Amino acid sequence: MRHSVGSVLDDVPRDPFADDPNDPAAALGELDNTEPLTSSEREEALTDLADVEVFRSLLEPQGILGLVLECPECGEQHYFDWDLLRGNLRQMIDEGRPQVHEPAFLPNPADYVTWDYARGYVDGVIDTEESR
Ligand SMILES: [Zn+2]
Repeated sequence: MRHSVGSVLDDVPRDPFADDPNDPAAALGELDNTEPLTSSEREEALTDLADVEVFRSLLEPQGILGLVLECPECGEQHYFDWDLLRGNLRQMIDEGRPQVHEPAFLPNPADYVTWDYARGYVDGVIDTEESR
């Protein structure tokens, strides 16, 4: 997060962690107007989270470290490792905040696959198992 909250926090006396520089919520002080997820958005995030867990369980043993996703903010491809993907989705589900713009540091593109690839891979594995 690179939000500049400036003096906004000074006007929020009810924040019990206002004096704690390590409080992760401090950077989010200006988000009082955050809309909670709609039920369909929440549903979608839960589905994505379940997908990510399945992708990880099948792809991580193949040496895949995460997914490459197009960033809705800047339109570029960003690399997200499994923990980051899961963390982002959980945060969105729990707190109604959008995905954090925080790609992995200096990723090796060969270690990441697209969502569609992961989906296809999982479907292929399931088909193979069902036809045995
Ligand atoms: Zn971006």
